Amino acid sequence: MRGRQSDMKDQPIRVERERSYPMPVAEAWRLLADTDHLNRTIGLPSVEFSALPDPLVRGARAKAFGVVPVRWREFPFDWVRERRYAVRREFDGGPVKTMEIGIELRPAEPGVTVLSYAHCASAGPLSRLLRGRIRASVDDTLDFCDHYLARKQAGRPDPVPVPKGRPQVNQAQLDQRLGRLAADPVPPVPSDLIAALRERILAGSDDQLTGIRPFALADRWGADRLAVLRMFLHAATAGVLELRWQVMCPTCRVPKAEAGTLAQVPVQFHCETCGIAYDVDFDQRVELRFSVHPAIRATTGQVYCIGGPLRAPHIVAQQYLRPHEDRPLDLGLAGPVQLRTVRAAHRLLLVPEPGTGGSRVRDLTITYSAGRWVGPHSLMRGDGLAVPAGSRLVLRNQTDGPILAALEDLAWTSEATTAAQVTTLQEFRDLFSSEVLAPGQQLAVSHMAFLFSDLKGSTRLYEGLGDAPAYSRVSRHFDFIRQAVSRGGGSIVKTMGDGVMCAFYRLDDALGTALRLQDEVTAWCGEQGIEPPLVLKVGVHHGPAIVMTANDNLDYFGRTVNLAARVADQSRGGDVVLLRQVLDQAGPPPIAGRGVTVESFTSRLRGLDDEQHLVRLTSTRVTSA
Ligand SMILES: [Zn+2]
Repeated sequence: MRGRQSDMKDQPIRVERERSYPMPVAEAWRLLADTDHLNRTIGLPSVEFSALPDPLVRGARAKAFGVVPVRWREFPFDWVRERRYAVRREFDGGPVKTMEIGIELRPAEPGVTVLSYAHCASAGPLSRLLRGRIRASVDDTLDFCDHYLARKQAGRPDPVPVPKGRPQVNQAQLDQRLGRLAADPVPPVPSDLIAALRERILAGSDDQLTGIRPFALADRWGADRLAVLRMFLHAATAGVLELRWQVMCPTCRVPKAEAGTLAQVPVQFHCETCGIAYDVDFDQRVELRFSVHPAIRATTGQVYCIGGPLRAPHIVAQQYLRPHEDRPLDLGLAGPVQLRTVRAAHRLLLVPEPGTGGSRVRDLTITYSAGRWVGPHSLMRGDGLAVPAGSRLVLRNQTDGPILAALEDLAWTSEATTAAQVTTLQEFRDLFSSEVLAPGQQLAVSHMAFLFSDLKGSTRLYEGLGDAPAYSRVSRHFDFIRQAVSRGGGSIVKTMGDGVMCAFYRLDDALGTALRLQDEVTAWCGEQGIEPPLVLKVGVHHGPAIVMTANDNLDYFGRTVNLAARVADQSRGGDVVLLRQVLDQAGPPPIAGRGVTVESFTSRLRGLDDEQHLVRLTSTRVTSA
């Protein structure tokens, strides 16, 4: 490749290396697509990013080899999930004009072949020196995969390699506080989870200990998501971790603001990337993340890469298209995806059609112009586009400016722990009772399930027993409900007389808990010597609500809450009542495997004009398998 002297001025450098690994493509993708962690671990310098007039491009500067200042314009990452990613950099001065670095993954029985590359244009006389350096970082990316597999072989709980050098940790303090985490919570936190957290704090890199998403970590550890979240909540009260509320842009799903307490969460925010202002809501835009407590270990906020694919794991493919550029995508659609352009409102739903499509691959061109994506008319179905099997998508930018196109996976399970979800956990309410919204602040929740329960015949109970013994029974029954609701993934919001209002993040959990309450209350009364047994009236409803602070407690208001109370009024005792349409929304699990009879009826609910279609669920207690 050594050119003649006259070519030296414009000599490109192309470095490509590949190796095969015995791991699935998806595992290699997860490992390599976290580019911040990859760059940090293989020893690349940290980078400072700044905004430029073109919102799609960022200014970047770093110190190459720790001393030489380098500046460049960083373009958005292009990627197709589990296939490839690349980033383009255009340098200000220096021996290299442009550099494109990336990886490609190819399935190769029994694993994956990883290609790591760097392509540079217009290397000057320094190219020989640079070539060695560039070759080294291309090799380092593949070595990173080797280290990963070696650590996995060695049985490390988290085999992802970390930077060399042991971080400074106050180990005495850590072990003392972990001791509380092991001793205090009831039920106890599993010891293998505590051990994994300890190893991460002792050896993990700063990015692995700031802004941690417990569900993502649980997936990485192969652990139960709620168990890891529960450990994190207790670790925060034990002073091992700190919690932070992050306000996320619902479009690009990147944190835009953060607050130490719920009361400090802003009411509105603006995303520069998307160019949109948002009202904060409780279930999509406020996320709980955790960082190591600074008394245990200090961390820095240094950034090594800002735009890698795992920053937005819900995006199947992202492509930066220059004016009038066509880009074919080597992408198989497994389910519906949504195509949008960053900083534009229009979205096009792409729905794959079943069928084999034969062996011939046809290009399906989708064109962006005048703010809209449009496909062939014959395939348009309302607001969506049918994608015949065997099609290859081609994105065409028919505008005079560059665009950033994103294909979003609608089936993606979010790794975010939202405020709406965590505040329905009884443990969260017990441990962080001061975590409430600022006075007067109201946030919307798009869906929340409510369970109302009331004691049947409580007047007779008080008449028959007298106030003190009757109240003792009522109070013990609150504990019974609290335990059942807590196990079911919800929490008690408040008690009202002899009744209880409970909130759940998921309808299925609310319904399952309601049925379990009715299944277990008689036996519980027997154990407690309560004779005759207490009879519960229970109703469940589901829908949007407003969350705000009332009596120093997070509380919910609105039509859904009112209806839940009205629906519970229809219970006769021993049954669970809900609207027919709500039962239809529930998944099969709460009903399946139980002996439950479903009785339909209509009734007028107080405050509503029309007759409502309701169902009454009664458990027939089938206990045999
Ligand atoms: Zn955004």
